[in-house]
Amino acid sequence: MSRFEGKVALVTGGGSGIGRATALKFASEGASVVIGNRNEKAGQETVDLIQQAGGKASFYQTDVTKLDNVQNLIKYTVDSYGGLHAAFNNAGVEDPEAMTPDQTEDTFDLVMNVNVKGVWYSMKCEIEHMLANGGGAIVNNSSIAGLIGYPGHAPYVASKHAVLGLTKTAALEYAKQGIRINAVCPGGIETPLLDSFTSNDNATREYIKSLHPIGRLGKPDEIADAVVWLCSDEASFVLGQGITIDGGFTAI
Ligand code: NAP
Repeated sequence: MSRFEGKVALVTGGGSGIGRATALKFASEGASVVIGNRNEKAGQETVDLIQQAGGKASFYQTDVTKLDNVQNLIKYTVDSYGGLHAAFNNAGVEDPEAMTPDQTEDTFDLVMNVNVKGVWYSMKCEIEHMLANGGGAIVNNSSIAGLIGYPGHAPYVASKHAVLGLTKTAALEYAKQGIRINAVCPGGIETPLLDSFTSNDNATREYIKSLHPIGRLGKPDEIADAVVWLCSDEASFVLGQGITIDGGFTAI
């Protein structure tokens, strides 16, 4: 299936985890893909994987907390491939476990800057381009932490609730102008971020696993499939949603 033949997709945080899986999936469906994250080696590895599989991709070093970096990323994408049709605003960081009063201001600022301001900066530049060029689809990466509380992680939970607020508001603003904006809300997914979230502690990991009625953690590909579908014409009537993909975590 080549739902994205001739299309251009952008993935922030595409050097790892869910972002890498999504970049690979977009490319396997025909899209030219631009990866934007800070770590050049990781970003280039994703590019290499795509090219080895016969796809088109490039890396552009980007810190999503810096507006000029994001503006340059969009310009690079459009200049290199002639457009931008789908964007996955996925770059994100976790916070160390601590009770709400014990979280530090540095943690709070970092998490908000990457997870919230980074998504806002990304949408700001993507929408500007899509509005002037016939529309497109945007997916932001929230979390089940955008839907429920999770003790010990107030900054992360607050940031992911904010991502859903940004998603729904922007979706309503551009609903009639050919830009569909949605979010995904993953449960626990096997990525480096989850390793940090659990401090690489096996008991904590097993506890998080036990919260998923399906009896396992999710895989990055299981989120990638939903993101690519949301950006495809098959999801043409889906707008302003946070699609939960969590093995039943929030169904209880
Ligand atoms: P990951 O493998 O650690 O990926 C995070 C990516 O974000 C990395 O590529 C990282 O690259 C990038 N990033 C971080 N800060 C950045 C910045 N300032 N500018 C640009 N890129 C930045 O973890 P992941 O689990 O795939 O996380 C991806 C997204 O999924 C995050 O938004 C996360 O909150 C969300 N999520 C994850 C889970 C889970 O259980 N894994 C569940 C729900 C939601 P650099 O460090 O090189 O920049």
